[in-house]
Amino acid sequence: MNKLFFTAFLISIFINSCAQDSHNNELRISEKVTLRMVKTDEEYKKILPDDVYYVAREEGTERPFTGQYVDFKADGVFTCRVCGNPLFDSKTKFKSGTGWPSFYDYSSSESLKEEEDNKLGMTRTEVECKRCDSHLGHVFNDGPNPTGLRYCINSVVLDFVPREKIE
Ligand SMILES: [Zn+2]
Repeated sequence: MNKLFFTAFLISIFINSCAQDSHNNELRISEKVTLRMVKTDEEYKKILPDDVYYVAREEGTERPFTGQYVDFKADGVFTCRVCGNPLFDSKTKFKSGTGWPSFYDYSSSESLKEEEDNKLGMTRTEVECKRCDSHLGHVFNDGPNPTGLRYCINSVVLDFVPREKIE
């Protein structure tokens, strides 16, 4: 009887450790998948200040010349305020005179995605963060060399990391 109990005990340890292993595997896979950040509007509403939520999730636009990064000239990388994804290098920032921070290129192939925007009776190209889908601004074809592009971005959805703090 005792022997039977011990065998059952061993089997239960074995089953438990298998379950734990498969659970760990699941975790590793889901971490990879959620490199993209997906949250509901309700979750975003809880964690984002109103002005960030308005631009990032409701595709709003901040008033020109009001954003903190319009005339900002420090050296570093601008990241997504919502998820931290690196978006623009300060080396590609230029003075556009539009009242919004403007860049002629993005940071990496993981930075942005583009969507057609037909609001306001015109066709524009909307720019979103590739990681969390937050609205950032628009891209236009009247930028400087070498790309000829002008990424017109709302300050309120950007954060800034100085060059010396980048690993
Ligand atoms: Zn993001």
